[in-house]
Amino acid sequence: MYIVPESAIADILTRDDAFTAVEQVFAAMAAGDAYNFPVIREAIGHEEALYGFKGGFDGNGMSLGLKAGGYWPHNLEKRGLINHQSTVFLFDPDTGKVTAMVGGNLLTALRTAAASSVSIKHLARKDSKVMGMIGAGHQAKFQLRAALETHQFEKIIGWNYHPEMLPSIAEVAADFNLPFQALDSLDGMTEADVVISMTSSFSPVFTSAHISDGAHVACMGTDTIGKQECDADLIVRATVFTDEVAQSVTLGEAQHAVGAGLKNREDIFEVGAVINGTHAGRTSDSEVTLFDGTGVGLQDLAVSASIVEIAKAKGIGMEVDF
Ligand code: NAD
Repeated sequence: MYIVPESAIADILTRDDAFTAVEQVFAAMAAGDAYNFPVIREAIGHEEALYGFKGGFDGNGMSLGLKAGGYWPHNLEKRGLINHQSTVFLFDPDTGKVTAMVGGNLLTALRTAAASSVSIKHLARKDSKVMGMIGAGHQAKFQLRAALETHQFEKIIGWNYHPEMLPSIAEVAADFNLPFQALDSLDGMTEADVVISMTSSFSPVFTSAHISDGAHVACMGTDTIGKQECDADLIVRATVFTDEVAQSVTLGEAQHAVGAGLKNREDIFEVGAVINGTHAGRTSDSEVTLFDGTGVGLQDLAVSASIVEIAKAKGIGMEVDF
């Protein structure tokens, strides 16, 4: 078994590699060559933690395995650790033998950021200029950085439930020499051509009224039953794409609108179909597109497989007889 510790990931995985791995696996999913297993996610009744497993099999990339981990909301304040903790295990699809163990924390941030970026590349208007952020936590910084590397924006605006956290995303904008404007109210979000929401909210943070015609919205925070970032009115108005429809309607942002009978499951499309050219994607400059990024196990496996390959080539990590 090959082990790549968390501390080594930053030297191995580039945002470009993560983007490519995620784009390819979304395409494979939409083509029916790769599938995710049902997600297990449990409130364990300790530390208010959510713990679970995401797994799948990609018959194209030949990756099989799972990511085990979750969200510990008090890690940062109590222990100085990030709130997400996870580890990926890869298995040989021919034999079932475990082949690799890979630190999953930075990987999760990069693959999640890659997912919204893939959606921006394939669904946002090419003339998008203003990038809007809703959320300013750990993942939001990764989201913004990846978006700014994917598309040439001219200005960043941001709103957060905890406004004191906004300087962390202002720093990312500064790294790209782009102006950043902190919003006092979500009403200002109508200036944005692309919006990424990345919060841990369990009730709608923004509504359709905060989003302009022609915008692309990537809702990235809702990955669990009960969470919600946007009001169902935006899901109804937008053309909705997702990484995986089954997750979108059960634990993703669309769970509420679909559960209430306001949106049909059949009207939610895989972004992979747009990548493959079997769905047209955005069809007008006034259409609102929304990507419901629920986070699938196959993203983790694809990126981990790429990490193991690079780690072996660079002599990083260790082989263990297991
Ligand atoms: P974090 O704890 O670092 O940040 C949480 C963010 O949510 C902050 O901006 C905070 O101000 C905001 N927030 C908290 N309570 C809120 C409320 N009631 N209303 C509005 N905003 C509120 O967390 P993080 O690591 O940035 O992760 C954010 C969310 O993304 C989590 O829910 C996490 O589970 C989810 N996530 C999704 C994926 C995916 O693939 N879709 C991957 C990783 C994480």
